[in-house]
Amino acid sequence: MARFSELFIQQVAQATDVVELVGQYIALTKKGREFVGLCPFHDDHNPSMRVSPVKQIYKCFSCGAGGGVFNFLMAYEKLSFPEAVRRLAEQANIAIPSEYDQQPRAEGGVNKDLLRRMMTFATEFYRRQLQTPAGKAALDYAHKRGLTDESIERFGLGLAPDSWDALSSAARRKGISEAVLLAAGLIIRREGSTGCYDRFRNRLMFPIFDLTSNAIGFGGRALADDEQAKYINSPDTLLFDKSGELYGLNWSRDAIRNSGRAVIVEGYLDTLIPLQADVEGVVATMGTALTDRHVRMLSRFANEAVLVFDADAAGTAAAERALEVFISQQLQVRVATIPAGNDPCDFVLAQGAGAMTKLIDDAPDAMQYILDRRMEQYKAAGDNLADRRRIIDEFLQLIVSSASYGAIDEVRRGQLAQHVGHMLNVPAADLQQQMRRLARRLPRGNYESSPPDQLDPGLPAAEATTDIPLSERNVIEVLINDPELFDTAAERIDPEDFTSPALHTIARHVWRLGSAGHLHMDELLAVEELVNLGALLVDMAAVGEDRGNYEPTLTGAVDHIILRRRQAEADALRSTGDDDALRKLTDHYRQGDLRRRPKIS
Ligand SMILES: [Zn+2]
Repeated sequence: MARFSELFIQQVAQATDVVELVGQYIALTKKGREFVGLCPFHDDHNPSMRVSPVKQIYKCFSCGAGGGVFNFLMAYEKLSFPEAVRRLAEQANIAIPSEYDQQPRAEGGVNKDLLRRMMTFATEFYRRQLQTPAGKAALDYAHKRGLTDESIERFGLGLAPDSWDALSSAARRKGISEAVLLAAGLIIRREGSTGCYDRFRNRLMFPIFDLTSNAIGFGGRALADDEQAKYINSPDTLLFDKSGELYGLNWSRDAIRNSGRAVIVEGYLDTLIPLQADVEGVVATMGTALTDRHVRMLSRFANEAVLVFDADAAGTAAAERALEVFISQQLQVRVATIPAGNDPCDFVLAQGAGAMTKLIDDAPDAMQYILDRRMEQYKAAGDNLADRRRIIDEFLQLIVSSASYGAIDEVRRGQLAQHVGHMLNVPAADLQQQMRRLARRLPRGNYESSPPDQLDPGLPAAEATTDIPLSERNVIEVLINDPELFDTAAERIDPEDFTSPALHTIARHVWRLGSAGHLHMDELLAVEELVNLGALLVDMAAVGEDRGNYEPTLTGAVDHIILRRRQAEADALRSTGDDDALRKLTDHYRQGDLRRRPKIS
């Protein structure tokens, strides 16, 4: 398996800015010489992530995640080191040396990288088809739905031709294997026989992009009227997981970050038509209900979400379900209702962006929305006391559980009790009491944030970094923060003096880079062997205030290491009974020369 040369890796690291990279995923705010933001590696509510443009590192002060550009991408995108290098090389437009261009592939095994290239190929293929004569019907449809040519281009729309094998034939001519097409979800195996056929046929294609604008899936709108399924989506693949992705986030992220507000719709055109009209921050779920992963993703950019519902659709149940997922992430939720008979797309086309923006601005909070719907149900229940009672109980339950997760405070809880009491002609105090009773029955921690999916490669392995002798740590810490002192240390100790396996590994590279005169943090972080020690490395890098006082710290630490070595050497000689050597050693150190290694043999 070919490996990238160190020179190439360093080149990629130098071409990548950590602030820019991390900023693609989380909102960063400038604070002094650094940037801060919500850490994506733990359930963060106060910005714990610091990113240093000077040192080109990131570090979370809560969960300990940290490292350089490669560590971040590996941890966030769950990539291997070579995959991360390749990705950043592509982003920086650095040509990947041809001898490394073939990724190793296991038998029939397909990796993310191949899939990514497959998706790019398919996106381009569909785009070109839309501009052929065969694309006319699809273009007409897109125009009829209100999309401009500019938008069709901007959003990457395409046509899946009315054919069983248009895409697969084109892919085969390009040397793309069936395994890749299958793994990308673009073809389907024929049942009971050999061969495959294209999944998307005679459809207007909406590519779905990730945050870095790589196509990861497709939605396809049927162009034939008699087609049963109006919309179909890519199945979940290595790249694409519907329950975690939001359509349009790549275009809306900056607006969401700036305004703090995300507008959530359901569907491709409901996203694109508002975006085209400059209604900002619109994203959509893709055929799934909102999950806590969606909300967690949004909470990195937004502090408030506005759900846009059709008047005739979902309503209360959907709002209540959404409220539950948002509660755990402490995002405020409001609900905007599109007047009957419309969806967001039609509404914007008919009434304009201003009307849509006003609808969003004026949207009541989710609790109010649910209360209003509950009251309608309550009235509709008429004399049915059991139903009335259930409706009220369920609403009080919702208030109580929301309050228990901090989604609403005591004041708001009291207001809601007043409100309900007034409408039902029941004393608010009674309702308050009922809520207290409900609160006692509440299960604890039912919305605790889910555990991280897998071990974060940005975190040091526990065994590797426990029991690190302070003196060894101090030496490395001084050297990476003040490389000028490298020679001072190197003339007295060397990497073999480090007993901690983690620091021994780091020291070998510190010495290698230091001897060559370019000991820099970003170079260390770009060393493949150190990639699992990224968090330890940045933990030692002085972020923010320089700790200064390096020289005495270094001298003290080196003295200590040498004394320890002396002790060990003496112990070893004593056990062998080599008195002569032991005397030499003792003499050497008795002269007070702690500066140099003794020459014994
Ligand atoms: Zn963290």
